[in-house]
Amino acid sequence: MLRLLCGKICPFGYLQDWMNKIPFPKKVRTFKGDKVLRYLKFAVLIAWPVAEELSLFGEWQMSAPLVIGLTALALLCILTSRPFCKYLCPVGAVLGLFNLLPPGRYKVNSDSCTKCGACSRVCKMDIEPYKTPNSIECVRCGKCKKKCPISAIS
Ligand code: SF4
Ligand code: SF4
Repeated sequence: MLRLLCGKICPFGYLQDWMNKIPFPKKVRTFKGDKVLRYLKFAVLIAWPVAEELSLFGEWQMSAPLVIGLTALALLCILTSRPFCKYLCPVGAVLGLFNLLPPGRYKVNSDSCTKCGACSRVCKMDIEPYKTPNSIECVRCGKCKKKCPISAIS
């Protein structure tokens, strides 16, 4: 349920969606290492407070590494959908765990689902909702539910 914050409210999520609409010759949905890289956000979740405690960040100000990092992230947002959510966001790492609990769970009617894959094709997190409706990667944007021609996802 709390994951709705990522799919429906987070302005940075909307910014990433908007940037991903910018045309690019070849968009990337997934790649070798994508699944492993998604654990990086849990490392960020653990490392962030430690770095804060050790005052490693200092004052936020425009510096060459920050500009390079932001430019790389902007390019990634054009190339693939929601890269920050997939790989870096520590808030999403925590909120994703709520997908496992009621009332935030999705259910797929396996009797009516034809496994057409229409839900997977619109998924901005590039998961397969008809196979893993309660993946912790799902941001609960609801696009798969809307796209399913027979309303098999509830
Ligand atoms: S779009 Fe609906 S019918 Fe098609 S695979 Fe997804 S849940 Fe099943
Ligand atoms: S599985 Fe559905 S609700 Fe979750 S991110 Fe993908 S399209 Fe959105």
